[in-house]
Amino acid sequence: MPSGDGLLVRVRPWCGAFTLEQAKGLADIAATLGNGHLDLTRRANLQIRGLGEENLPALHETLDRLGLLEDETARNVMVDPLAGPEVRALALALGRSLPEGRPAKFGCLVDGGGPLSISGERADIALCVTPEGVAVRVDGEWLGVTEIDHAVAAASASRKSLARMTIPPVPGRRRLGRLGSFTGLAVPFGRIESHQLADLVASCAMAGASEIRLSPWRALYVGAVVDAAGFIVDENDPLLRIEACPGAPACASATVDTRADARRLAAMGFDRTIHVSGCAKGCARSAPADLVLVGKDGRYGVVRNGKARDAVERTIAPDALARLRSA
Ligand code: SF4
Repeated sequence: MPSGDGLLVRVRPWCGAFTLEQAKGLADIAATLGNGHLDLTRRANLQIRGLGEENLPALHETLDRLGLLEDETARNVMVDPLAGPEVRALALALGRSLPEGRPAKFGCLVDGGGPLSISGERADIALCVTPEGVAVRVDGEWLGVTEIDHAVAAASASRKSLARMTIPPVPGRRRLGRLGSFTGLAVPFGRIESHQLADLVASCAMAGASEIRLSPWRALYVGAVVDAAGFIVDENDPLLRIEACPGAPACASATVDTRADARRLAAMGFDRTIHVSGCAKGCARSAPADLVLVGKDGRYGVVRNGKARDAVERTIAPDALARLRSA
């Protein structure tokens, strides 16, 4: 899709993970065909930015070679980032069961019931492993629980004859650093540079990890202890309390440099959740934040305890953001 800095290309992984070859290929695409920036999304996908129309044939050829073009629909399944082989096989089966031509926003998730639950994320179909079996949720309604071998069929038939069970959504929780045999790595605002991704691939190869897993928290998980230089591994890092969309100049709707201003806010020691949005669309965060700054005409509208579309209480120039500390 067109964006302020060229074409933006969204790539969906199989079962929530890219192989090292795929990740290296995507880093190369970003470096040679795009502007070197890649974004991790809240639907556990990856976006390459800044491509020119003239690069589309080369892009398609490379994505095809990497196995990232076929079965678009089947890859629209989020998987919890620590899922084991059985859960990932379930995700694959669910993806393969989805008919082509679903709306682009139709999404599914499969949660393995482990310590990094994604069961609270939005999904048209959710399969969540519990001690009693696989709980099935369709269109927000829990249909019940069934055996793992029947879960996909139960979801597609929307069967109401399952053993009744409702599981409360577990708020998604980002955890970073060492997690058993995994390492969780975050990047500010979900933005990863092509050289960073290439370095991570090399580090994974040396450490024995075979893939890079994505998550709805825009953190990456790898199945080894890897060199985390350049990544955030401290869950209390102030940058992780701030969401900021790409802003200007990357997005044509923005008149403010959201991410530069967000970094300045982080350095000022704000201890609340902050959403810096280039405009009222609020792409970076759908939940309310303690402080929301909404760009318009080169200034920010200020919203407290709300969302980007809420009424602003006043406007403030970007170079006056430090005054918000005492307000
Ligand atoms: S919130 Fe507005 S400025 Fe930011 S990425 Fe979305 S459309 Fe662009």
